[in-house]
Amino acid sequence: MPSIKDYKIATLGSHSALQILKGAKDEGFDTICICMKGRSKPYESYGVADNIIEIENFDEFFGLQEELIKQNAIMIPHGSFVTYIGPQSMKKLKVMHYGTKGILEFESDRDKERLWLLDAGCKMPRIFDKPEDIDVPVIVKFHGAQGGKGYFVAKSTKDFYEGIKDYPGNKKYVLQEYIVGVPMYTHFFYSPITEELEVMSFDKRYESNADSIGRISAQDQLDADIRTSYTITGNIPLVIRESILPQVFEMGENVVKASQKLVGKGLYGPFCLEAIIDPNLNFYVFEISARIVAGTNPFINGSPYTWLKYNEPMSTGRRIARDIKMAIEQDRLDDVLG
Ligand code: AMP
Repeated sequence: MPSIKDYKIATLGSHSALQILKGAKDEGFDTICICMKGRSKPYESYGVADNIIEIENFDEFFGLQEELIKQNAIMIPHGSFVTYIGPQSMKKLKVMHYGTKGILEFESDRDKERLWLLDAGCKMPRIFDKPEDIDVPVIVKFHGAQGGKGYFVAKSTKDFYEGIKDYPGNKKYVLQEYIVGVPMYTHFFYSPITEELEVMSFDKRYESNADSIGRISAQDQLDADIRTSYTITGNIPLVIRESILPQVFEMGENVVKASQKLVGKGLYGPFCLEAIIDPNLNFYVFEISARIVAGTNPFINGSPYTWLKYNEPMSTGRRIARDIKMAIEQDRLDDVLG
């Protein structure tokens, strides 16, 4: 009988690694944390890693693969891993990898992502081809912007040309309708083993300076000439109005179904739909993350929703390990590797 003792769970020390490794240990796996030199303290302190491997830079990661393969390690991707390795190089990874690598290309290319989400029936903010078309407030998003840093809001074509002066050299951007509403990020999990879509939790981000501007008067904001920015500094847990939940399940299921037309086994494991909900309760999805998001980190001990389903602490990290464990025990590991 195949045993989880023959395998290890590995990830890169950043983003949601604490949760991933803790979840793996709770499910009985040995764990490996690959860390940039000087950044291993949290993984030692919280005791989540059985083995810590330090590297000087991300190129070294590729050199480690033989060792990881020898140990039967299964890599769990997260946001930082995908960013550092790059969606193209992801495909070249030889070590076992949880999730469909090809789907990560769709989350990192705004055009491909949009076609996918529209095909899944999601309502999305309008996109403007050129600044001259702007007829409602827009959020200007630069390609490759990290963690919401450096976005700006423009209410007209003139306003756009004024604002863009502050970003010389940034030529590639998308002009997206600015939705007035509240952010709501839904964390889903789809298991190819149980073939069930689960709603794990919700969060909103704690963004600087967007979440602090309201602490000073409008006049002070004008006097200080403040531009709104959305640099992520943390995540705040949420519960959603219960009457919207059926719609949330349906969205998640449709996104998974649509992904199966795109690449390989499609999307499975954890993913997140990032949306703004307007006062008419419309969900405007503006982005998908096709892997675990850091917004699940407040729920290391589980969320109200996972408590309902599991009656034991179930983080998204632990849910990943549970999926792998079930796959190993049913001799179906290939079904969760991609
Ligand atoms: P992103 O980096 O695309 O996740 O966006 C960063 C932040 O910008 C989000 O958390 C939202 O607060 C805000 N945001 C992004 N897109 C929109 C939009 N179309 N309308 C309103 N706010 C948005």
